[in-house]
Amino acid sequence: MRKNIVAGNWKMNNDLGATATLITALKQKKNEGNAEVIIAPTFVNLYSAFDSLSDSNITVAAQNMHQAESGAYTGEISAGMLKGIGVDTVILGHSERRAYFHESDELLAQKVDSALKNNMRIIFCFGEELEDRKAGKEENVVGSQLKNALFHLDASAWSNIVLAYEPVWAIGTGETASPEQAQDMHAFIRKTVAEKYNSDVAENVSILYGGSVKPANAKEIFGKPDVDGGLIGGAALKADDFFDIVNAFA
Ligand code: PEP
Repeated sequence: MRKNIVAGNWKMNNDLGATATLITALKQKKNEGNAEVIIAPTFVNLYSAFDSLSDSNITVAAQNMHQAESGAYTGEISAGMLKGIGVDTVILGHSERRAYFHESDELLAQKVDSALKNNMRIIFCFGEELEDRKAGKEENVVGSQLKNALFHLDASAWSNIVLAYEPVWAIGTGETASPEQAQDMHAFIRKTVAEKYNSDVAENVSILYGGSVKPANAKEIFGKPDVDGGLIGGAALKADDFFDIVNAFA
């Protein structure tokens, strides 16, 4: 049975003090539904976030990691280092990593392998650009992102995969995919996973939607049968908004 999940990607926001303040506010909120709540602060604040949340049900995730175990990769962080501080969930493939840091599907496949080797859960992001959608190519693009980065995995590895469909044109733009557009793509993704693996894998994988989710639209989007929650950017930086989104599952 797949899980509902609401994950907040804080991106490069919140220093140590602001991280503590937001976490204090989040801990005062009541999760009235059944969604798992995840937050992804910046690398430097991961341990303090993890430590402050050790007495709560909120999970801490990293926003990225390097594919190597260790070595001469100045400025990078490995899966083992994340695990070493208690963080066992990582976001991979965010469109900002793909666009600004040139992360390809092939590189992401290596990161996926390294995360799984270290028993981490992956929130794998993918989605089409505006021009792909205008050209009617969104399913081709999304299908190949999935295939290139994830379809080398065995079916058993999929218990550690969460998918996050994030149409690039809807991220941080205020433009949201309509609930129907989200449902159509999520159904396509689930069908594609079922065709590659089997219906068990497809029915058990959580597929989150990301792209300008807000308290005002969360309930309608999450109400669609193949939408199992959201990856939230801007609205995750305010405890009230974030928990209004979490409680769309109440
Ligand atoms: C994101 O960056 O993953 C995201 C969905 O951002 P926003 O909610 O701000 O569109």
